[in-house]
Amino acid sequence: MAEDTVKTTCPYCGVGCGLILSRGREGWEVGGDPDHPANKGRLCSKGAALMDTVRAEDAGGIRLLHPEVDGRRASWDEAVAATAARLRETVEAHGPDAVAFYVSGQLLTEDYYVANKLLKGFIGSPHIDTNSRLCMASTVAGHKRAFGADAVPGTYEDLELADLVVLVGSNLAWCHPVLAQRLRAARRDRGTKVVVIDPRETATRDLADLHLKITPGSDVALFNGLLAHLARTGAVDGEYVARHVSGLDTALEAAEADAAAVAETCGVDGADLARFYQWVAATPRTVSVFSQGVNQSSRGTDKVNAILNVHLATGRVGKPGASPFSVTGQPNAMGGREVGGLANQLAAHMNPDDPHDVDRLRRFWKAPALTGGQGLKAVDLFRAVRDGRIKALWIMATNPAVSLPEAGLVRAALEACPTVIVSDVVADTDTMRHAHIRLPAAGWGEKDGTVTNSERRISRQRAFRPLPGEARPDWRIMSDVARALGHGAAFPYKRPADIFREHAALSAFENDGARAFDIGAFAAIKPKAFDALAPVQWPAPMDAARGTERMYGDGRFTHSNGRGRMIAVRHAAPMERASLRYPLILNTGRYRDQWHTMTRTGLSPRLSAHRPEPLVEVHPDDAGALIDGGLARVTSGLGSLLARVAVTEAQRPGEVFLPMHWSDTTAAAGAVGRLVAGHVDALSGQPESKHVPVRVEPW
Ligand code: SF4
Repeated sequence: MAEDTVKTTCPYCGVGCGLILSRGREGWEVGGDPDHPANKGRLCSKGAALMDTVRAEDAGGIRLLHPEVDGRRASWDEAVAATAARLRETVEAHGPDAVAFYVSGQLLTEDYYVANKLLKGFIGSPHIDTNSRLCMASTVAGHKRAFGADAVPGTYEDLELADLVVLVGSNLAWCHPVLAQRLRAARRDRGTKVVVIDPRETATRDLADLHLKITPGSDVALFNGLLAHLARTGAVDGEYVARHVSGLDTALEAAEADAAAVAETCGVDGADLARFYQWVAATPRTVSVFSQGVNQSSRGTDKVNAILNVHLATGRVGKPGASPFSVTGQPNAMGGREVGGLANQLAAHMNPDDPHDVDRLRRFWKAPALTGGQGLKAVDLFRAVRDGRIKALWIMATNPAVSLPEAGLVRAALEACPTVIVSDVVADTDTMRHAHIRLPAAGWGEKDGTVTNSERRISRQRAFRPLPGEARPDWRIMSDVARALGHGAAFPYKRPADIFREHAALSAFENDGARAFDIGAFAAIKPKAFDALAPVQWPAPMDAARGTERMYGDGRFTHSNGRGRMIAVRHAAPMERASLRYPLILNTGRYRDQWHTMTRTGLSPRLSAHRPEPLVEVHPDDAGALIDGGLARVTSGLGSLLARVAVTEAQRPGEVFLPMHWSDTTAAAGAVGRLVAGHVDALSGQPESKHVPVRVEPW
């Protein structure tokens, strides 16, 4: 490859598209990488506009360019010393549990690895969580219950090999656009049937042969009804279940109890429901794609297992064109999972509640401070900050003051916290405004490392631009702080390859195939080979450097007895219901051309042209005095914001929609997180961001 061409990976959604950056007359230009298996040259609007955001950053005033301590510019030496001193003082005065990190699926795996090692292994606090908690934590919990490990069995190609694709709680056309392009092409070329299960008519509706506009929160009833139908019609694969699966009888018992009233519970037409059930029963090559509409729920884990139950009962797991398929929101939500980015995980998918895993990690890291046990999950973590139990909080590459539920409380927590350290690329975010120590981090195109996409594919992000100002990669900032705390021997990293190599070695350390995640093939990788690393799907154990396309296709799962587990799940309503005071249910989600809290995509005029402002979408039956195009105040039990009204039949009566992107910085309207309560799934800790009682009034 010529010096003026660089292969890298898109920093936005979990599809993880490969990019080729080429130096043109007017600077770097972006194109899709035809050799990358995730996208095969395709791009969506956000990927194509990447250089718009980079150029806008270069124009000045956007980036945080120098460290700051207590509002004054500082040298890196001063900033690192101040960070280390405040962490040390907090531990000495209040114990290690008074320190927490809140990190991000925007970090590279190497950054994530160092963050986990520093906090859990050497500061001795378990309280590190990530914004991936808002994204796919329910899927992690569901995978572990069903398979014994957090592993996506399928590969993107399965969408093209399937005869039926069921999209559950997924606006694929806007949130994973390149996968939607691949599915659209498969539908055109081979007549793939598509069922969309979503309370709203989104852009993805255009792909559907059948749209089940279900009552929000009724997914468990829908899939329990399907399981009961499969059993009644002889579509359960008895031989597969006998050999490979436990729990069919109890799962079926629970499913049959829901099945009687399923059409009513789900609010769908009986004939449509029957058609869906018949199609699944008759189509061995079925892929079920599920996303945030399933995960962001107080019953998210049960919803995931209701879907996985159907695939386990029919033996449709990890086979070409036949698998359940979670698509993650963020570019590296899965890489974070690999290194223990969630409060209820250790590195290399080890379990913090398993003394053997804790001991194994403690010995590998030579980290006596590692105690094991679960840390606080995102919502509880910020409540602990507000309550004064967490005294020092380091936030990296995320903007919780906008994105977390109970956003008002998050801001109050940040105000009250004695030490807030924020590492980010952006100088002014709603979160950065609360920071005592501000650390300028390297952004996309400036840092090197790996990310893992939704099909378990590890890809390289490569630097092609110089670091602006004094910005540094996150792994380096944390390693410097670790050295200042006296742990230099454990953080000797000179380059990302050193960290990736250690991460790979840990994944194989005393593993013996017991954990699904294993990339031991790279345990001795040299920097040059790391630079050239081609996209590879884990597991990639010592003897399989080419990786693994599909998992569990042979019916052997990660549970100690090798069997998959069906889980008895029952429909239960969301935590809150509509009331006279708050008669409508708010659903939140993404727009096609914006990303998270718009700190990058908001800089691109062409992306902003798609939807220049947040719209509250309302069904005509609920519009009342609201005027299409007029302003409205949306109020929940927690707060309110202003938004322009769009009256549309795409909504179900009784339900409204708002995008998640805008904040107090980007709109007078305010962050949607101000409205969302902190109700979480009991198992996964994922907040219920898609079911908030509100009222909408003309303004
Ligand atoms: Fe980037 Fe996702 Fe678009 Fe691919 S589909 S170009 S990863 S935003």
